[in-house]
Amino acid sequence: MIAPDVKKLVKDIYPADDVSDAAEDLLAYSYDATGAETAPELVAYPRSANQISRTLKLANEHRFPVTARGAGTGFVGASIPAHHGVALVMTRMRRILEIDEENLTALVEPGLVTGAFQKEVEKLGLFYPPDPASLNMSTLGGNVAMGSGGPRAVKYGVTKDYVLGLEVVLPTGEIIRTGAQTVKSVVGYDITRLMVGSEGTLGIITKIRVRLLPLPESVRTALAVFGDAKGAAEAVSKIIGDKVIPRTLEFMDKESVLAVEKLIHAGLPEEAGALLLIETDGSSQSAESEMNIIMGILDKMNVVEVRVAGDEEEADTLWKVRRSLSQAVMKIRPSKLNEDITVPRSRIPDLVARLSELSSRLGTPIVNFGHAGDGNMHVNVMTDKNDPAEYEVARKAVDEVFRICLDLGGTLSGEHGIGTGKSAYIEKEIGKKGVDLIKRIKSAFDPNNILNPGKIIPEEGK
Ligand SMILES: Cc1cc2nc3c(=O)[nH]c(=O)nc-3n(C[C@H](O)[C@H](O)[C@H](O)COP(=O)(O)OP(=O)(O)OC[C@H]3O[C@@H](n4cnc5c(N)ncnc54)[C@H](O)[C@@H]3O)c2cc1C
Repeated sequence: MIAPDVKKLVKDIYPADDVSDAAEDLLAYSYDATGAETAPELVAYPRSANQISRTLKLANEHRFPVTARGAGTGFVGASIPAHHGVALVMTRMRRILEIDEENLTALVEPGLVTGAFQKEVEKLGLFYPPDPASLNMSTLGGNVAMGSGGPRAVKYGVTKDYVLGLEVVLPTGEIIRTGAQTVKSVVGYDITRLMVGSEGTLGIITKIRVRLLPLPESVRTALAVFGDAKGAAEAVSKIIGDKVIPRTLEFMDKESVLAVEKLIHAGLPEEAGALLLIETDGSSQSAESEMNIIMGILDKMNVVEVRVAGDEEEADTLWKVRRSLSQAVMKIRPSKLNEDITVPRSRIPDLVARLSELSSRLGTPIVNFGHAGDGNMHVNVMTDKNDPAEYEVARKAVDEVFRICLDLGGTLSGEHGIGTGKSAYIEKEIGKKGVDLIKRIKSAFDPNNILNPGKIIPEEGK
């Protein structure tokens, strides 16, 4: 608990409109997309690095926890103030400070919504590729802190590939700059990379310098329906194996297709057992010729139906199938355990087969979709959290999903991170020595463990 006199010291850092301990505000910042709930004791909406620095200095002096929060769309509980304390909601720091058209970089504040930033740079013929499906809600600061990715990662990489430098307030209150304004820089340890994906445990990001690309002239979109998941998974391996890198290669299994069809009536064929949403981009000529190569590959496979969009409106209709998924699967069961395991792309057919066997063996619905082009599969174990017996089977299924993933040479999370949701599992992937090193890095940055405690590293007894 923060003592009342200490709370007052924190409140004094902020104008009255930028700080609150009203019950509705504490509740609003007590959860993320996992639905778990732990409330902060005070919410502050900083507008400067200096305010954050003063807050963190007080936190060290009086030993209360501080947790940064973007839009709260995370899937692993990373922004939930697990030990209460102060929630720093970053959404009032949302300016674009500079778009440098000559050097193809931009300097932004962390509370800016990713999709809004993309629209601004696109007006200038520029392109910021990282595209988490939450891009119209989530913030750039959250994306950097989680190392987020999206459908375009298969060709363009993920957030970490675009961050050149940061301004960060360290847990002890010092303000530092990492990286450079240049595309290359090798001065000292790569603290920028360490901050990306650190889930708000090593510092609070207050400025982000990102790299931009020229906006591709043309995009081609197609949807291919397969009789079964194995066929679609093999097509993914074949397309990549033939050295074509589409900008998007999204997979949906039969359960996903059925759920979407029920919700939006897209007219998908009854015999659909899986589908791929495929995009190519570049100059009009290269987008077209790459799509033609892919169509040639699909011609030789057992495909039920292929739809190629003739214009942007038709492309949007095809994307609707993918975008409706999150809503559609919730009609299967009221709760889901959503994991984003990633395996080497060539192992996708094995992964799909083993997940199907697991679902039949445990009698638990498992819905699989995701960014198959980079091996990142969203495995949704559908359950009812209010039914203890059903939930226990679902938890067991998750244990097995992770075992299968590691067995296939994969990683526990491609983009959602660890937070509290997966901290119990990380030792299985990185080993005890790896966990110990993370603990030592954390304590070098944050000797009093005041910044977002309880995340990534498993806590005693939890
Ligand atoms: C419908 C939906 C679709 C999604 N799709 C994807 C997807 O395709 N790909 C993907 O990768 N993720 C996806 N996500 C997960 C989520 O959107 C991402 O993790 C996103 O980057 C979180 O951003 P946020 O602004 O909501 O951050 P929050 O959830 O508020 O915070 C996430 C973490 O970042 C830290 N943080 C936030 N701001 C700062 C800061 N300024 N400095 C330091 N730390 C900070 C927080 O402390 C916390 O640890 C999806 C979520 C939803 C709900």
